[in-house]
Amino acid sequence: MNPYDPHFETIAIRTQTEKSHNREHSVPIYMTSSFTFESAEQARALFADEIEGNIYTRFSNPNNDEFIEKMCLLEGTEDGVATASGMAAMFVSMAAFLQSGDHILASRALFGSTHQIITQILPRWGITYTYLDASSPMEEWERHIRPNTKMIFIETPSNPALEIIDIESLAKIANKYGVILNVDNCFATPYIQTPAKLGAHLVTHSATKFIDGQGRTIGGAILGSKELIQTVRFFARHTGPAMSPFNGWILSKSLETLAVRMERHSQNALLLAYRLQNHPEVNWVKYPFLHSFPQYELAKKQMKLGGGLVTFEIKGGIERGRKFLNSLKMLSITANLGDTRTIATHPASTTHSKLTDAERKAVGITDGLIRISVGLENSQDIISDIERAIEKSKEDE
Ligand SMILES: *Cc1c(COP(=O)(O)O)cnc(C)c1O
Repeated sequence: MNPYDPHFETIAIRTQTEKSHNREHSVPIYMTSSFTFESAEQARALFADEIEGNIYTRFSNPNNDEFIEKMCLLEGTEDGVATASGMAAMFVSMAAFLQSGDHILASRALFGSTHQIITQILPRWGITYTYLDASSPMEEWERHIRPNTKMIFIETPSNPALEIIDIESLAKIANKYGVILNVDNCFATPYIQTPAKLGAHLVTHSATKFIDGQGRTIGGAILGSKELIQTVRFFARHTGPAMSPFNGWILSKSLETLAVRMERHSQNALLLAYRLQNHPEVNWVKYPFLHSFPQYELAKKQMKLGGGLVTFEIKGGIERGRKFLNSLKMLSITANLGDTRTIATHPASTTHSKLTDAERKAVGITDGLIRISVGLENSQDIISDIERAIEKSKEDE
């Protein structure tokens, strides 16, 4: 890096793979499965870890390394590994450390597939778990740590209820018991929240969401100290969840615009939250940077902005929620988030429809809950489409 102390935007733009002899301005894509050795001696030294360098793209690749170098600088971690998807990052970040007999403590409202790993896959290898509500007081987290607890895994803000967990306080508890605190930072991105700077030991990402930000590709990252990442790298190198260099190139380019995008996502989201706040057809609105948000103080403390997600409860339950989706003209109905395009989801009738009422309630999903991933279209157009759909779904009642 440069001798001065660059800011977020500059790091995201100016961290670049060394130029080739072609003197390119924009980094090319290194679509190569392996790298040649200049001599048998160089090959020996590379395999023996005596020198650093590329051997094979399952281990490392210039595009993926550039993406990870940026992520480390932005999150404030020493090292990291790029993975083919967010789920590969979640799984590897657990499987690399946990073994039969270990216990994992996690917040209940997790991304669906992360929930399946913890409740269906890890138990096959004798790894048990305890779920706690994101809003549990810190004493509750401490009370549930067992002698065999190896990891605490959380998402904050949670999906879709947007509950916030105090990362700094939880990190203190994790340190007291020698437990690894693993934070999925997908919703906030390092522009808004840097868990490692608050004491988290691992920061995991689905780069598919706001990091790509344009709904084009799948990717993930695991970031942490040199020591922890050494364990992750060994596991990843031999089990093969490697990112494609093409995706590494896309995601490194995406990071160049992360700061401006997150500013606008958050601005549009706040405008929408303000507008829906006193809407007669809406029971409540949740957005971390609304004064009415129950954890507003904590949100302000650990987040730079409110982020791109807004949830609200439309009056009229499941049926009205379904009608609301059908009444939208511009917003997309799709199972993604963190896109330039605004996306609406109605968890009770779609992603979480298989859960029982009690299970939905436990993760904060009510029948009329609508989640909006606020995009980068003009805020007036986003608000108009949502207001129109609220009215239209009422007429149809
Ligand atoms: C999407 C998502 C994941 C999974 O990421 P993929 O890239 O889809 O594999 C994990 N955690 C959170 C919070 C997510 O939103």
